[in-house]
Amino acid sequence: MAREAVVIGGGIVGTAAAIGLQRAGFATLLVDPQASPPPASWGNAGHIAVEQIEPLASRATLASLPKRLFTADPSIALPLRGAASWLPFAWRFAQATRPARFERGKTALGALMRDAMPAWRRFVAALGAPQILREQGHFLVWTHQANRAAARSEYAAKDGGTARYREAQSDEIETLTALMGRPPALAMRCLGSGHIADHADLFAACRSTFTGRGGRHRVSRAGLTIEAGRTIDGGQAIVGGRASVILEDGGRLTPDIILVSAGVHSAALMRSLGHRVPLIAERGYHLHSPGDRWPGGLPPVVFEEYALIVTRFRSGVRASSFLEFTSPDARADPAKWRRLRQRITALGLPFELPGEEWMGSRPTLPDYLPAIGRSRKASNVIYAFGHQHLGLTLAPVTAEAVVALIGGEASGEGEAAARDAAARLAAFDIARF
Ligand SMILES: Cc1cc2nc3c(=O)[nH]c(=O)nc-3n(C[C@H](O)[C@H](O)[C@H](O)COP(=O)(O)OP(=O)(O)OC[C@H]3O[C@@H](n4cnc5c(N)ncnc54)[C@H](O)[C@@H]3O)c2cc1C
Repeated sequence: MAREAVVIGGGIVGTAAAIGLQRAGFATLLVDPQASPPPASWGNAGHIAVEQIEPLASRATLASLPKRLFTADPSIALPLRGAASWLPFAWRFAQATRPARFERGKTALGALMRDAMPAWRRFVAALGAPQILREQGHFLVWTHQANRAAARSEYAAKDGGTARYREAQSDEIETLTALMGRPPALAMRCLGSGHIADHADLFAACRSTFTGRGGRHRVSRAGLTIEAGRTIDGGQAIVGGRASVILEDGGRLTPDIILVSAGVHSAALMRSLGHRVPLIAERGYHLHSPGDRWPGGLPPVVFEEYALIVTRFRSGVRASSFLEFTSPDARADPAKWRRLRQRITALGLPFELPGEEWMGSRPTLPDYLPAIGRSRKASNVIYAFGHQHLGLTLAPVTAEAVVALIGGEASGEGEAAARDAAARLAAFDIARF
C-alpha cells in the first residue's frame, strides 16, 4: 500500500511539495480552505528572484530603515495597532543582523538559491508546461540623477549569486524611455533571474498534474494534534509522538507524513505541537490592471526609488509594493493603494488605473531564512514555511528538499539519505529560534 501524506496549505510551497511527494510515491492529500482574497502565492510579483542571495536581516537593511520609514511615501510600515507583533520581531531581527549570523545565513540561502532556477526548470518540465517559466531577467530603474553614482557603485559590487548585473544597452534604454515618457537616470539589467507567465496558468498546471496522478484536494482548514509518547526516528529519540490532522469540516487523519506549509498561518499549527516560531505577516499590496498598454515582452521592471516592481503577466500587468509588519488578519490600509496609484502616475507608466486591489502576507521569520525541516516533537511532521519575499522563487527547490528529507524512507534507500538531507538543511531548522 502507498504511504500517505497530507499537505496542509495549498500555496505555491505546499502545492509544489505535494506534487513532489506524489512523485516520490506518496498517496497525497492537499488541504486548503481556499480563502478569499487569495494568499501571497497568487498575489505576488511573479519574480524568480535568484539574485537575492543575501538575507534581508542585514546591517545594510538596518542602516536603510530610517530613510525608508520616515519619508512622505514610506515603503515600510510599522502600524501602531500591530506593535504587539512587530516589537518582538524587531528585536529578533536586530539580533539576526549580526555580521557572523548574516554571513552564515547568506551561505545557507545562497546554497538553496544556486539550485532555485534549475529546480524551477525541472518543476515546469514535470508539469508539462515549460512556457510558464520565463528566463528573461529583469530591469532596475532609477529616475533621479542624484542617485545614479551610488546605485552604479552598489550594483558593481553586488553579489547576485548565479545572476549578474550589467548596465542597460541602448535598445533597452529606448524601450524604458518609451515606457516612462522620459529617459531613466540609470537602468541596469539583471540576467539569470526570471518570472512566471501567469499565476492562474501555474496553478492550473499544478492542479491538473496533481489530480491527474491521483492526488486529492480537500477544501477545509486543518488543525494539528499530537499524541503524547516517545518515538525513535533516524536513530534520534524524539519527545512526543505522532501528529494527527483535524479537519474543520470533520475528520481526523494520521498519515505517515504531514507537511505544514500554511504560509503565515504555519506558526499556529506548529504551536499546537509545542514549537514556538516567531513568524510575522509582512504584508504587501498590489494593483492589477488589464495591461493593454504595457509592452508584451517586457520583463519585470523594478523602480528602485519607488520600491515598486511592475510585472507583465498573461492576464494583465501588476504593480506591487510595501512591507507592512502586522498581524495577518488586520484590516488592509486603503492609503497603500492610493499611494501605489500616485507612484504609477509620478512615473508616467502606461498602467490603467484604478486597477484591482489586493493585499496579502509574506510569511517572514526574523532572520529572513525559511523554515524547512523535520519536527522534533512529532515524528511524522515536516515543515516548509517562512519564505518571506522569496516563496515563489524557492518553492520548487523547497519541494525537492522536503522529498529529500523523507526520500530515504520513501525509496527504501534507508535513512542515511534523509539524514544527509537534514544536515544540508540545518540552517533552516526551527530549533534556531
Ligand atoms: C506583494 C508581494 C509580492 C511578492 N513578490 C514575490 C516575488 O516576486 N517572488 C517571490 O519569490 N516571492 C514573492 N513574494 C513572496 C511569496 O508570495 C511568498 O513567500 C509565498 O507566496 C509564500 O507561499 P506559501 O505557500 O508559503 O504561503 P501562502 O501563499 O500564504 O499559502 C499558504 C496556504 O495555506 C493555507 N492555509 C492557511 N492556514 C491553513 C490551515 N489551517 N489549513 C489548511 N490550509 C491553510 C492558505 O489558505 C494558503 O493557501 C511576494 C509577496 C507579496 C505579498
